[in-house]
Amino acid sequence: MNLSRKELFDEMGLSPQWVLRENTSVLRSENNVPREKPSPQPVSSESEKLPPVAQNVGAQSDENVAGDLSQMDWPALRQTILACRSCGLCTARKQAVPGVGDEQASWLFIGEGPGAEEDARGEPFVGQAGRLLDAMMAAIDLKRGEDVYIANAVKCRPPGNRTPEAAEMAACRPYLQRQIALLQPKLIVLLGKAAVQAVLGEDGSLASLRGKKMMYRDGGLEIPVLVTYHPAYLLRNLPDKAKAWEDLCRARALMRNLCAN
Ligand code: URA
Repeated sequence: MNLSRKELFDEMGLSPQWVLRENTSVLRSENNVPREKPSPQPVSSESEKLPPVAQNVGAQSDENVAGDLSQMDWPALRQTILACRSCGLCTARKQAVPGVGDEQASWLFIGEGPGAEEDARGEPFVGQAGRLLDAMMAAIDLKRGEDVYIANAVKCRPPGNRTPEAAEMAACRPYLQRQIALLQPKLIVLLGKAAVQAVLGEDGSLASLRGKKMMYRDGGLEIPVLVTYHPAYLLRNLPDKAKAWEDLCRARALMRNLCAN
């Protein structure tokens, strides 16, 4: 998407108040809408040959899966996610959506879960919310695939695009954990409450979490985390785009510090 800066700000609903004056070259070098209604997916005869869906979803936890995942590289992890049957979401998906981007990125953006377009195309954030995410990233000189990786809390589309249940996020968490371990990004940006819950286990309101210093910790890994609104929420709550813009500016400043140290 090649939008001019003015078009980007228009897209974000920020024109004309917000003008980015700083040179952002350091970062570059270093580094709901209401979703559509569910359409029940037919269970194909192919799926009858598939392994059964795990019972007791959510009890399946990091120990069950992560032991196996801990040695996986990106291609093996991707294949494992595509074949996953750890929770009921697999029964209605067209395909799992592992993630997309630069596998050595400094930036990791995490959303909630695939919607219909993502389910159809196999890539996160390709619908209307995705176009806003692209605009948000472009406003701080980031581009999908260039020093940016995008993933979701759950890799399969929740029917009707409902919020993923805690047990579904728990079943998918080892995949996200392994993605973070492989990527080792400098900064994680969490888009919305579900991502916060999946990554940090925090259940507070988004308003109470924005602007707080937080850290993702896993083994020896310690990665700063920044929380902001989900683009789909912003499409329905235009006034909060200005707050998201503040968050993006904070993220950019934080990344600049992280790159300098
Ligand atoms: N919303 C998300 O959280 N993730 C996507 O991939 C698409 C929409």
